[in-house]
Amino acid sequence: MIPFSPPRIDDKTIEEVTAALRSGWITTGPRVKRLEEMVAQYCGISHVVCVNSNSAGLELMLRWYGVKEGDEVIIPAYTYTATANVVVHCGATPVMVDVKDDFNIDVEKIRKAITDRTKVIIPVDIAGYPCDYEEINKLVRTPEIVKLFQSETEEQQQLGRILVLSDAAHSIGAYYRGKHTGGLTDVTVFSFHAVKNLTTAEGGAICLNLPAPFDNGELYKLLKTKSLHGQSKDAFSKMQIGNWRYDVLEAGYKCNMTDILAAIGIVELARYDSEMLKRRKEIFDAYSQAFSDEACYQVPVYETKEKVSSYHVYPLRIKGITEVQRDEIMQHIFESEVAVNVHFIPLPMLSYYKNRGYQIAHYPVAYDNFSREISLPVYYDLTPEMVQMVIVAVKKAVAQVMK
Ligand SMILES: *Cc1c(COP(=O)(O)O)cnc(C)c1O
Repeated sequence: MIPFSPPRIDDKTIEEVTAALRSGWITTGPRVKRLEEMVAQYCGISHVVCVNSNSAGLELMLRWYGVKEGDEVIIPAYTYTATANVVVHCGATPVMVDVKDDFNIDVEKIRKAITDRTKVIIPVDIAGYPCDYEEINKLVRTPEIVKLFQSETEEQQQLGRILVLSDAAHSIGAYYRGKHTGGLTDVTVFSFHAVKNLTTAEGGAICLNLPAPFDNGELYKLLKTKSLHGQSKDAFSKMQIGNWRYDVLEAGYKCNMTDILAAIGIVELARYDSEMLKRRKEIFDAYSQAFSDEACYQVPVYETKEKVSSYHVYPLRIKGITEVQRDEIMQHIFESEVAVNVHFIPLPMLSYYKNRGYQIAHYPVAYDNFSREISLPVYYDLTPEMVQMVIVAVKKAVAQVMK
């Protein structure tokens, strides 16, 4: 069986994790600090806070911005449920908008969805392909949209407009107009979950890029305490001789990353461009070459003059098929011992959101993308021979169903 996306774990990873274990310091400490600095440098920004998931990072930022009941947060209908769930946790309303043929949120649809209750937009770089950030950043700064904005907290007053909080769970390493994700919007959150491009088993990173008068260095310190019960000192600092006394500044959360997990990320990030992204691009190119020669396939766009993907998910679409046919094709692919997947089931089709009144009929592009999509395996240890097996399995399955 060819699996869908196992993590890359080798002797180097195991050595660094072992070193963390042997160091006697396993929770948040020097390795987390190092990973934060490495991610910041990689993204070309000054401050990054590592947390235990992308979900926790998004929620921490929504809460920092004072998002609460009665507020609206605009998200794409086509994403993983985390993007919406964190909004629900805050008591606010996720306002879903449709996406485009490239799977990403449609900026014109965002414009139409903005009201005087909109506090945040969460664009999602689906499959690792960056959203239209120039248009989104311009939109939130448009005078009539700024005028609509109702500041209710000090942070909202300071920014004076809708916060752009990127869900970059898929897109570390992607480029938009020559700049890495992480530095493209006010705040960006990566995921280091086990299936993601860069993993720490579970984990995430908050990239701070807020404009003046915000001080991202001060915000870093605040978020470090917010992610650890609002405690004025973390366990590592408290360990230092005579430094035992601490204070609690607010009823904070508990979502800090551990040094054991950071150890995996440190190894991965150091070789991310030269090994991981290089390999992923080769796999993407091989798939696109194989599927471009037959008219029934729609291959994804992952590189343009402006945008370069992080090659996270290869979302192949089959032209003119129904959802039922797509499911049948997938079944045949599984029978050839190849694991495939679908990214994603649009949120309005999931029970919880359907029961809250969201209707898939309002998101025709999201549904069309979903109903014809099959995500192919992409990971570091997928060999060229395995890539060929995937291609053969897909073509055979499509021929069986479309005969
Ligand atoms: C994986 C994923 C998340 C959640 O990441 P965690 O680190 O598991 O919290 C959020 N958004 C998208 C689009 C994802 O794919």
